Amino acid sequence: MAERLSGRRNTSRSYLARSTTRRAATSTVARRRTSAKPQRAADTIFLNAQIITLDKLRPQVQALAIEHGHISEIGTDRDVLSVAGKNTQAWNLGGATILPGFTDCHTHLVSYGIQLHGANLRKATSIPEIQSILRKQAEKTPPGTWVLGYGWDQEKLNERRFPNRHDLDAAVSDRPACITRVCEHICTANSPALQLANITRTTAPSVGGVIDRDETGEPTGVLQENAMGLVLSHVPALDGAELRKAISLAMHKAVSAGLTSIHCIVDQPQHVRALQAMSRAGELGARIYVLIPDEWLGPAGEIGVSTGFGDEMLRIQAIKVFTDGSLGARTAALESPYSDSPDTRGVLIHSQDKLNSIIESASRQGFQIAIHAIGDHAIAMALTAIENARDVVPQCDKLRHRIEHVSVLNPDLIKRIKQAKVIASVQPHFIPSDSWVPARVGRERAKLVYPLRSLLRSGATVVGGSDCPVEPIDPLEGISAAVASATRDYGERIDTQAAIELFTKNAAYATHEEKLKGTIHDGKVADLVVLDRDPLKVPPEQIRQIKVLATVVGGRIMYGSKRFQAMRTSNGRRQLARRHS
Ligand SMILES: [Zn+2]
Repeated sequence: MAERLSGRRNTSRSYLARSTTRRAATSTVARRRTSAKPQRAADTIFLNAQIITLDKLRPQVQALAIEHGHISEIGTDRDVLSVAGKNTQAWNLGGATILPGFTDCHTHLVSYGIQLHGANLRKATSIPEIQSILRKQAEKTPPGTWVLGYGWDQEKLNERRFPNRHDLDAAVSDRPACITRVCEHICTANSPALQLANITRTTAPSVGGVIDRDETGEPTGVLQENAMGLVLSHVPALDGAELRKAISLAMHKAVSAGLTSIHCIVDQPQHVRALQAMSRAGELGARIYVLIPDEWLGPAGEIGVSTGFGDEMLRIQAIKVFTDGSLGARTAALESPYSDSPDTRGVLIHSQDKLNSIIESASRQGFQIAIHAIGDHAIAMALTAIENARDVVPQCDKLRHRIEHVSVLNPDLIKRIKQAKVIASVQPHFIPSDSWVPARVGRERAKLVYPLRSLLRSGATVVGGSDCPVEPIDPLEGISAAVASATRDYGERIDTQAAIELFTKNAAYATHEEKLKGTIHDGKVADLVVLDRDPLKVPPEQIRQIKVLATVVGGRIMYGSKRFQAMRTSNGRRQLARRHS
């Protein structure tokens, strides 16, 4: 009895802290809570765990309770048992680790889902292998429909070159086919696809695009950047139901990898429609933050929509704007020429003036901006545009503008990122993937490609993502890459705790939700991931082998492995635990 009383004292103390946090978070639960009866019971409790809170004041606890989707108590097993009632679901986690749920700040989730339907060319090591995969894909798809493939990388091919239309024709000649490079900035179309798109030797490329040609002037089938749209716009879109199915496939992979929040870059209205339909039907397994293209800025302004519009499962987060292409495809905009292609410095999507005007109007409209910038020239342009907006739009800093990728840096750019309060949105898995970095930019510039440690040391906010489907959606792969894969030539290592924070605490800041999530604290939403081992305690190279046991979003178990299900403990056993605690 004394034990229960002390438990309750604890509870009322934490209740005060909780209500302050909740007011800040404008939670409906807070309102409900003010009229709550003093004797309440948790919906769910997790006992006997290693809970890494990422909260400096109380870095590790043993147990936590969840009520109405929020963390209602953290502490020892005993503290948490004191708020359990007869309907509380209890889990004895047997020493498993709980972290705040992971956020992926940069995905193309819908494209990933669509790709899960097409041919996977990621592992292809030669052009004949691509051809054989495409032949199989053609057999699987109805006659007359497009044959699509994704994920090829010429660096992995024996031939070390882009596949061309003739390579594709040899595999599929009776209908259109198109295969996209792993970076999604280059594709190759076969002859029927080029014909359908009416691309001939006289076709001019779209602005910011390149149609590759052979020595006779004939298109090779390779289309870069904006020129890709000439062909891809002819690919029939999936219908609403197919799209939902595709997104569900991707979502399942994301949630079972421990993600509770996903920033999702979209470029089609039907993608938003599908997400909205899924949200209405309760089919979203994680919170979705939509990044919309800059072309939608005008229409959004007309109806008064800006950052934060939506609800706790689906919201409009930011405007995504491109500055350049990718380093792999030599379309990222560099200050000086590519070391392995001295006649190019990359591709610019917008002029400085145009970029300034986009960022300024987005800021005026209350939109966070996520600027894709990879090359040092593109990053400088993005910073100039943000600096310009800060001068003329007073609310600019509150929006927390971000630069996506920020790959090729130098000390001056890092200083400007910090000074302009810009969020650096990085994808650590580029480090193990992009072995060609020193070739592209030379040894000197390579030293400041993916400089995670320098960015963090500067005091800038750094958030983590995958750029899935370019890289794996698994955040533990990203964390492991940040901790273990820096090379001698490029990329900087950071410690495990800092790497975890990129995908949790810092990520919450990027959506203006640091008071609501990102750490484990009473009053915050119950977005959690349960892991079989503690990433802070395993050797860095083993982080990627850690298994996700469960993913909890707003107190709901969205993914639970068999092992996790077996950890559910009966009421009787809980009583036992209570007596022993
Ligand atoms: Zn991307």
